[in-house]
Amino acid sequence: MNMITNHLPTAELQKLDAAHHFHPFTDKAGLAAKGARVILRGEGVWLTDSEGHRIIDGMAGLWCVNIGYGRKELAQVAARQMDELPYYNTFFQTTHVPAIALAAKIAELAPGDLNHVFFASSGSEANDTNIRLVRRYWDVKGMPWRKTIIARWNGYHGSTMGGGSLGGMKPIHAHGGKIDGIEHIDQPYWWAEGGDMSEDEFGLARARQLEEKILQVGPDNVAAFIGEPVQGAGGVIIPPRTYWPEIQRICQKYGILLIADEVITGFGRTGQWFGSQTFGIKPHIMTIAKGLSSGYQPIGGSIVCDEVAEVVGGAGEFFHGYTYSGHPVAAAVALENLRIMQDEKVVEHVRDVAHPYLKERWDALAEHPLVGEAKLVGLMGSIALTPDKAKRAKFAGEEGTVGYRCRERCFANDLIMRAVGDRMIIAPPLVITPSEIDILVDRAKKSLDECYAGLKKDGLLVAREG
Ligand SMILES: *Cc1c(COP(=O)(O)O)cnc(C)c1O
Repeated sequence: MNMITNHLPTAELQKLDAAHHFHPFTDKAGLAAKGARVILRGEGVWLTDSEGHRIIDGMAGLWCVNIGYGRKELAQVAARQMDELPYYNTFFQTTHVPAIALAAKIAELAPGDLNHVFFASSGSEANDTNIRLVRRYWDVKGMPWRKTIIARWNGYHGSTMGGGSLGGMKPIHAHGGKIDGIEHIDQPYWWAEGGDMSEDEFGLARARQLEEKILQVGPDNVAAFIGEPVQGAGGVIIPPRTYWPEIQRICQKYGILLIADEVITGFGRTGQWFGSQTFGIKPHIMTIAKGLSSGYQPIGGSIVCDEVAEVVGGAGEFFHGYTYSGHPVAAAVALENLRIMQDEKVVEHVRDVAHPYLKERWDALAEHPLVGEAKLVGLMGSIALTPDKAKRAKFAGEEGTVGYRCRERCFANDLIMRAVGDRMIIAPPLVITPSEIDILVDRAKKSLDECYAGLKKDGLLVAREG
């Protein structure tokens, strides 16, 4: 029996899953007690599970299924490429058509002189490439002491040792430690940390921590700064408008390289091809993955500017690469994904249709008694849950308890909306239509109502002191 096409009943699948499948970012014992939800099929923005529920996917998988599920063209391209050349490497002076065509297409779409693509199979791997790339750059420039990379607390850059170290998530650092030479500054999260400052003042203050950190480490020791244009996994934290111009100015002043981690914000998520365009950032390197292939194949990479590519590329061999760098099937599928995005004007759909429509409905959620703020850029949205809007208060109970309860209500209402602490976030497929946006927001509102009623009943609408 082929279990993939003719599978067991849900309870049996869950038992086998618990016995043999070690899940990422999961409490193994907790999941075994509960049983994982088994997803069987996807179509557009819809998922079907093994119990026949039709779920609206407010997260596009993990921020990646930008063109939606079930596009047959991608399956056909993959099958054709597997027939013709399922694998060949790009080491040792060889190449193949899918890698060439995809690199050229990415260079065409990327702004400025970001013209060179180093391929990986994920965002984490690409960020590991970036660490080696920027340190090698300064070696070749005759400044091998420039090694430190500055990043942000609560940023996310993947979960390999390099990616996890760049990220500013303390629970990740706690499991396995972090590599040397990475420093963190505070995040531009005004709602929770802005105190009495205006958003604009706070954006500047947080950006200026970069300058303080550079001076503390010694300007001659800093290789690069890395940041997500909008923090995703950290809770869809949209920075104040003053933040990125100041970061850009400080990087220029000290001549350090700027890496924009566009793994989520790339390929249309913010209503332009790249988040750097939405926020006026001019990076030397961009990290890409996720939406590059709409998640249909694992592929990522670093888009590198002329200067960095010429310096590192002009100094002999760069001792770095992955067996699957530029994998032909993944590259062919990514290329077809980008063709669909262009032919069907998906980025324009986000900018002119889906974002404006969702914005109106999302902003209205800020009126809900449980919601402290509702934010949206392109199709990345977040709401902060609070027991006291005026004070921007946290809940008295353990952080994340209320977010978890809200997420459970969403699940029960066949909506995937993720919780990050007590913040709820969405990033639906970019092809979502206005009528699907109505369904998404109606279900979110119903879930908030139920969560609010439950908190009231259980006496949990209590603000933390201080
Ligand atoms: C998801 C993500 C990564 C890591 O990508 P993987 O493909 O999971 O390794 C890196 N950076 C950002 C901003 C991400 O959202």
